[in-house]
Amino acid sequence: MTDTMRRIVLASRPEAAPVAENFRLEEVALPEPEDGEVLVRVEYMSLDPYMRGRMSASKSYATPVEIGETMTAGAVGEVIASRHPDFAPGDKALGMFGWADHGCLPGKQLRKLDPAHGPITTALGVLGMPGITAWYGFNAIGQPKPGETLVVAAATGPVGSMVGQLAKAKGLRVVGIAGGPEKCRLATETFGFDACIDHRAHGDAASLSAALKEACPDGIDIYYENVGGKVLAAVLENMNPFGRIPVCGMIAWYNGASDDDMPLAAAWRSVLTNFLHVEGFIIFNHYDRFGEFVAEVGPKVGAGEIRYLEDVAEGLENAPAAFMAMLTGGNTGKQIVKVS
Ligand code: NDP
Repeated sequence: MTDTMRRIVLASRPEAAPVAENFRLEEVALPEPEDGEVLVRVEYMSLDPYMRGRMSASKSYATPVEIGETMTAGAVGEVIASRHPDFAPGDKALGMFGWADHGCLPGKQLRKLDPAHGPITTALGVLGMPGITAWYGFNAIGQPKPGETLVVAAATGPVGSMVGQLAKAKGLRVVGIAGGPEKCRLATETFGFDACIDHRAHGDAASLSAALKEACPDGIDIYYENVGGKVLAAVLENMNPFGRIPVCGMIAWYNGASDDDMPLAAAWRSVLTNFLHVEGFIIFNHYDRFGEFVAEVGPKVGAGEIRYLEDVAEGLENAPAAFMAMLTGGNTGKQIVKVS
């Protein structure tokens, strides 16, 4: 066992899109677990869009990462030392170890993983935070009914692909929006969406709105909101009365809004005149539903009824590049980093 570890810290805050200089790779002493703590050698870490928010100092639902602090991340790996009765060396565990090749946390903050239940990477995606986010937002806020039409963007990502598959299984018409023809093909052929629109092929909201009108002849009942931007503007023009919008994310605006954003007045007018149910949520407030989610979705993933894609970058040092690429659609499926 070495006595040092590597981690990536926030070196500076981004002004718009993150750049390589915002991150710094450091070598530091390996921590010794104290009473109740567990030391884990990280095998895979998750890269998620929410991390962009943590890089900014602005007020949000979570405290930002401070300059010089390790970037936040969920990760899975092997226990190499434990001073907690529930964990022993060799166990696999999930925890918020950050962008690092080792992590030391109180055992009560970790979840033990059973490798017999499938690859441990699934705890970062399809059966982890993105999976429950999709499941909760779709069911609890979307209130889906068979025969309705659902639209979701970032359709091949871990959230969008889960939303689409849950909606298909419930008898909805499902229209995805994704970046590029290859992702659109994956949405329909791998994930079973009825149709998928390439947002890159539509330069503005008006053109995208026309494409949506064609793909959704009965209008849109549920818009599972992942992206904001011109997609949101186009969707709002096609919402049906009493439609529902679980507001999960708005990645198009994480680096700042641009000039072609829909005027606020028009957006609010659509909410009012279509009696929309628009509800924001952050999944951390709903983890009490995790057991229910895994009991329902886990067997379907095991049986191949719910499919998932993972995009694995190699090496902790490549995490910043993979993260920056993900924010603009460089990933195909759940973005993970193989750390060791
Ligand atoms: P993904 O793996 O799908 O990655 C993000 C994707 O967003 C990109 O691959 C790209 O897909 C798409 N994208 C980026 N920029 C734009 C743009 N300008 N317009 C349209 N699409 C864009 O991410 P996740 O599945 O992990 O997350 C999806 C959303 O859910 C994010 O907004 C995230 O912040 C949110 N989220 C919210 C949670 C909550 O608790 N509320 C929890 C987890 C996730 P493409 O190439 O297809 O355009």
